[in-house]
Amino acid sequence: MSAPAYEQPYLLINGERVGRDGRDGLPVRNPSTGEVLAELPVATPSDLDRAIELAGGAFRTWSAVPPVERGKVLKRAAELMRERIESIATAITLDEGKPLFEARWEVSWTADVVDWQAEEARRSYGRVLPVSTKGRALVVKEPVGPVAAFTPWNLPAFLPARKIATALAAGCTCIIKPAEETPLGALKIAECFLDAGIPRAALAVVFGEPSMISTHLINSPVIRKISFTGSTRVGTHLAELSARHVKRMTMELGGHAPTVIFDDVDLDKVVAEAAAYKFMNAGQICIAPTRFYVHESVHDKFVKNISEAARSLVVGDGMDSATQMGPLANSRRMDAMERLIDDATRQGADLIVGGSRTGNHGYFWQPTVLANVPESAAIMNEEPFGPVIVTSPFVDEDDVIARSNRLGYGLAAFAFSGASDRANRLGSAIEAGMVGVNTFAATMPEAPFGGVKDSGYGLEGGTEGIDAYLTTKFIHQL
Ligand code: NAD
Repeated sequence: MSAPAYEQPYLLINGERVGRDGRDGLPVRNPSTGEVLAELPVATPSDLDRAIELAGGAFRTWSAVPPVERGKVLKRAAELMRERIESIATAITLDEGKPLFEARWEVSWTADVVDWQAEEARRSYGRVLPVSTKGRALVVKEPVGPVAAFTPWNLPAFLPARKIATALAAGCTCIIKPAEETPLGALKIAECFLDAGIPRAALAVVFGEPSMISTHLINSPVIRKISFTGSTRVGTHLAELSARHVKRMTMELGGHAPTVIFDDVDLDKVVAEAAAYKFMNAGQICIAPTRFYVHESVHDKFVKNISEAARSLVVGDGMDSATQMGPLANSRRMDAMERLIDDATRQGADLIVGGSRTGNHGYFWQPTVLANVPESAAIMNEEPFGPVIVTSPFVDEDDVIARSNRLGYGLAAFAFSGASDRANRLGSAIEAGMVGVNTFAATMPEAPFGGVKDSGYGLEGGTEGIDAYLTTKFIHQL
């Protein structure tokens, strides 16, 4: 199987593709082979200054475009994403590794979310206060200003697109730094927005040394809003930097989703869905189910059945049509899997399936099932971000709720029970930004997406998402 060519990535500033041209380079690797696909140009401080100046200037014109017109441009961008699905999906599979069918799904999901944000542009309502018959008392929404956004490598098209589309819908301009490991999907998404007709200066895509770029952008008085998706460690650092300048922030910082399964469910159905959602993107999704608490009367059966599902998965290069699960995205995840699994087995967990790398090239990890994992194991406390099912039996409802809420994380959670009163209680009692009750589908364009506790603050999507990019002004006029 010969891989399709990977196009040379670039910086995108003022609609221009900026190449190496004397700049430092960073290798972009194919996680299925470990081979270098391309050298990514590293942005210099003067590249960033140019992007900042352009974003500041374009904000004046783009924020003045009527919201309904902004929405039309964004809808065109979503259409272009659908037309270019093969090219965008191929880029994602080559640099991030997920199977091509999943990459296509990511692109079509991305287009749906851009559509939603396009429609939200015209719904950024204010209100009229009935306080006086003379004059006017108005509450109006205004775009916050130029935005700096930072996104990770696990959803290389979707995560940048949601931030860009929401910022543009609100009337903001945007400078985005996607992950250096997966640049091409984000660039292709950005080209869709530009080709749809946004002002060239309204969107820039930069790459380089993450800490230099975030410090430079956050310190600029032109940038008024920061939006980050990634680890709690980096999010905390960016929140500190932003707080020094009292800048608005949205922080989506990952999770460790408890998944509570009672004994009154259709277990075969739950197992099939759990395997599908858990091994999607090799487990590297922030709302993936991660801690499976299974009622003791069905625990062993759950372990047996999900282990069969894990064993039967075809792991391979994402460009191969037979592949059901691709590689991990980078060598850091391989090291993390090894450390977390070793620690769990040393602490008494039962390794049922998998547990080690597979193949002699690339970053392939076997779909893994660890059963009876003690709460003290690192994998019960750190976001695993890999293809590992971790189980622990429970008996008592209050106890499993307490264990579900034990961690600082609070992004997604899942609960399965055939008893509607119990299902209602679980949905309310589990501390998370999103709870799937009798479903693993915890996100949709129409719904707010975000965490509580250490999983961050601020929301993306839903009717709430656009608010993050708007300020609220009161005008009292006599
Ligand atoms: P990381 O936190 O170092 O990097 C995540 C992203 O943040 C990368 O794209 C990186 O370019 C960016 N980044 C890093 N330092 C930055 C800085 N100073 N300024 C701006 N951006 C910066 O971690 P990683 O090794 O890629 O992943 C480690 C863990 O992070 C994972 O195990 C997982 O728990 C979590 N993670 C969460 C998500 C999510 O969707 N919430 C995505 C990726 C990783």
